[in-house]
Amino acid sequence: MKDVVLRLFAERGVDIEEIGRIVYELQRPYSDSISLEQCIESVLRVIEKREAQHAIITGIALDMLAEQNALPEPLNSIVRRDEPLYGVDEVLALAVTNIYGSVGLTSFGYLDKLKLGLIGRLNDKEKGKVNTFLDDLVAGVAAAAAARIAHQRVGDAVDNGVAGSGSSGGVAGRGGSGREGASPSASPSPSASPQVREAASG
Ligand code: MG
Repeated sequence: MKDVVLRLFAERGVDIEEIGRIVYELQRPYSDSISLEQCIESVLRVIEKREAQHAIITGIALDMLAEQNALPEPLNSIVRRDEPLYGVDEVLALAVTNIYGSVGLTSFGYLDKLKLGLIGRLNDKEKGKVNTFLDDLVAGVAAAAAARIAHQRVGDAVDNGVAGSGSSGGVAGRGGSGREGASPSASPSPSASPQVREAASG
């Protein structure tokens, strides 16, 4: 199914590397050592998740059907126009956003407002093209991929008692095994040591 998602994304003009770039923009303020490769890897991990795949194939199918005027009315017109009060596209994308916990929500809201990079391009109405669901799905994937990185960086640092307390409540406690390998003397800076990041997977 991951291959289906990658093919659909490609057909709809979505480049995984471009989503990676958005993740990089989201995470760079929190980590000097983050790389684009790491961000792209995180995007690929998100779309390996069944919940993400289901949301993505559903949303893209609705966009494509609206493009072909194949949805029943009034839904077809609503999706084609991307009516401002139609929020089902955002709600569907939340199934992706929340995969790595509620920290993804903040990034999703931020991306929805700013329409960074690819998301802005998808949102621009190109003649005949319907991307009503796609722009939100891409924002959801980017937000989840950023949340995944945040879990690795902050969550493990919290577990190892090296991060400041209080501000990371939504971040800790998910998605990690193999923390035994993490360095107990990891740096107290907001960015965890490479060992900490390396030790986390998922
Ligand atoms: Mg939309």
